[in-house]
Amino acid sequence: MTDKLISSIPTDLYIGGQWVPSSDGARIDVVDPATEKVIANVASGSVADATRAVEAAYDAGPAWAATSPRQRGEVLRNAFNMLTERRVEFAKIISREEGKTLAEGLGEVDYAVEFFRWFGEEAPRTMGQFGRSPAGANNILVDHIPVGVSLLITPWNFPAAMGTRKIAPALAAGCTVILKPASETPLTALALAALLKEAGVPDGVVNVFPSGRSSEIANCMLSDDRLTKLSFTGSTEVGRILLAKASERIVNCSMELGGNAPFIVLEDADMDVTVGAAMVAKMRNAGESCVGANRFHVHSSLYAEFSDRMAAAMAALKVGPGLEEGIDVGPLINKSTVDKVAGLVDAAVAGGAKVLTGGKRPPGPGFFYEPTVVTNIERSADIMHTEIFGPVATITEFETDAEVIQQANDTIFGLAAYICGRDIGRALSVASKIDSGMIGINRGFLSDTAAPFGGMKQSGLGREGSQDGMHEFLEKKYIAVDW
Ligand code: NAP
Repeated sequence: MTDKLISSIPTDLYIGGQWVPSSDGARIDVVDPATEKVIANVASGSVADATRAVEAAYDAGPAWAATSPRQRGEVLRNAFNMLTERRVEFAKIISREEGKTLAEGLGEVDYAVEFFRWFGEEAPRTMGQFGRSPAGANNILVDHIPVGVSLLITPWNFPAAMGTRKIAPALAAGCTVILKPASETPLTALALAALLKEAGVPDGVVNVFPSGRSSEIANCMLSDDRLTKLSFTGSTEVGRILLAKASERIVNCSMELGGNAPFIVLEDADMDVTVGAAMVAKMRNAGESCVGANRFHVHSSLYAEFSDRMAAAMAALKVGPGLEEGIDVGPLINKSTVDKVAGLVDAAVAGGAKVLTGGKRPPGPGFFYEPTVVTNIERSADIMHTEIFGPVATITEFETDAEVIQQANDTIFGLAAYICGRDIGRALSVASKIDSGMIGINRGFLSDTAAPFGGMKQSGLGREGSQDGMHEFLEKKYIAVDW
């Protein structure tokens, strides 16, 4: 019955308030990862369309920037109300194209919609500054102005939330945008475009641009002088390519990149709290989360108990199509992701690791992989250093806090980390030494609209959410003035 819902979503490019096919007629198939069947096909924007999208956003820019902050806030408030009303519908769309369970789809919509509310409220609260120069020579006036036409590139794992986390602050700041969703999950973005039009977003302010030619269209837009901002969420590898391209014109960049989150279990951890937090940190979105726990570092005194309890909890999860009743874990996004996860586990096992549960692909169609727990792993194994992005928990043991801090920081990434322990002072002391943009203590869920989301090291530049998220779309203009 979701087929009717899927076929109600517009499938052309959304440029300047119009639905248009791509200039050369190219289309992208959208596949349901639970069945491997094509459920829709959408227009794939060409380089000529990319220039048109920049033009539409550029033309709409001055009028949108001139609206009052309150007016922009009201439009975002409308979007909040409408998406809240249609949360089940959007959750089903997300589940069909991304694979997550309906419960997780609802969780994502609830998270996504909060960015409309939060930044709708922030819009009128972003004030400039006024001061007197220390020498008394002049007054200092600092204004915040929209950075301008913004290219927003998003990944497939949270197709609604990764979009709204960028669209809402950009619009609140007075910017116009071109959203390029991941090719695996364009439907949620196109449905959002239709919703935003209904919510009163003027033509050209939000353009949605699926394209199977991401590299060419990003190169084209980043070369266009009218585009002044890139906000990217995706892998560190692609982030690096985009930063290199953006450097040619010094385009303002915000980067939300990959992670390799350590989950540290200190010797005084409460095991019930720890296993609960560990399951959330590992299994959100079947492990396909940038902040997902990638490696569990457990004090040697708790290693056996934690490993057994994680294996039991993982083995109890029911794997299947996300929209079916009673399913805990949906499919992964595509075959290459399943191959990658299976390859990492197989290589670890070949190196002497032990699989406590899972470790296989279930038979039948769909990109499924069993919830898996692996112990006795060589520290040098690839699985310890690669973002797994799947339902696999790797567990190693440590003896001292100093040792685990060194292990946790032994990565190029610094997005998220987790620490469990009853002594909060000790947990905070360990947290202060972990190079990570976000740390959860005795909990496995971090995301919060009001908190700065982002990473250190090669996990990114800048922050989303909180007040910081809007400043990523504002320039400061300082005026020295006498009167
Ligand atoms: P990805 O391969 O980097 O793709 C992300 C986006 O970039 C997609 O829209 C993709 O388009 C586009 N893209 C790919 N190659 C490009 C190129 N050469 N030029 C311009 N655009 C390009 O990442 P993903 O596999 O979708 O997502 C998983 C990654 O995202 C993980 O590393 C995860 O940690 C990270 N992530 C980070 C955060 C965060 O907040 N830090 C949040 C979620 C995910 P196509 O789909 O058309 O190729």
